[in-house]
Amino acid sequence: MSRRSDQIAATRPPAGPWWIDGEWFLGRALDRLPGVDPDGPSLLPGWSRRTLIAHVARNADALCNLLTWARTGVETPMYASTEARDKAIAATAQLPPDSLVENCRSASRRFAAAVNGLPGPAWDAEVRTAQGRTVPVSQAVWMRCREVWVHAVDLGTGKSFADIPDDVLAALIDDVTAMWARRDQTPDVSFSAGDRQWGTGKVVMAADLADLAGYVTGRRRDAVDGRPPLPSWLLHASTPWPTPCRQ
Ligand code: ZN
Repeated sequence: MSRRSDQIAATRPPAGPWWIDGEWFLGRALDRLPGVDPDGPSLLPGWSRRTLIAHVARNADALCNLLTWARTGVETPMYASTEARDKAIAATAQLPPDSLVENCRSASRRFAAAVNGLPGPAWDAEVRTAQGRTVPVSQAVWMRCREVWVHAVDLGTGKSFADIPDDVLAALIDDVTAMWARRDQTPDVSFSAGDRQWGTGKVVMAADLADLAGYVTGRRRDAVDGRPPLPSWLLHASTPWPTPCRQ
């Protein structure tokens, strides 16, 4: 059975339990930072743990901007520019580890407050993402949801895709396959995990749901036997490392 990410988009917060659980999951990954090297590599090539945490923090602020846009009707993009985004991430990454983690946690709290404070009619507003898509603002909650779950794993402090609930894993695969379709990059592959299936391509790949989610999101290229190269997900195809996440 195929699932669709817009099922989530239609779910109005604060009834966004996957996102709320994801923030908790990220918090537990951050809890482990004192035991690891903040300057060590995250699982995203080119980004240290501290750069990744800085990105997750500034992403929350960027998504707050979309909620502000919906609330006020004044166009408020996620980032003023790519350069401004990268500069803000680099500046935050310089914080001492304790301050960096608190910066990330407080950004999460600001986003939660913005979600909970958005008046009902404003949820119908359309906004534009950093990837240039016009979407209902409710999509910002899913965008944050996928960030916190996946980057908690990327932090490399012991969380894995196997720790993510099946419904969230399936929604992540929905998101990836939908993004490929929008870019006309759908690979000639059918994926299956249990009774869930994606795509109609000739190459059939069956895997455990967590392994499959790790594989299609570009985190675990080794997770599925006979793996073909896959298009990127949140990394725009024309933007190589060291900017591994464009959100
Ligand atoms: Zn990201």
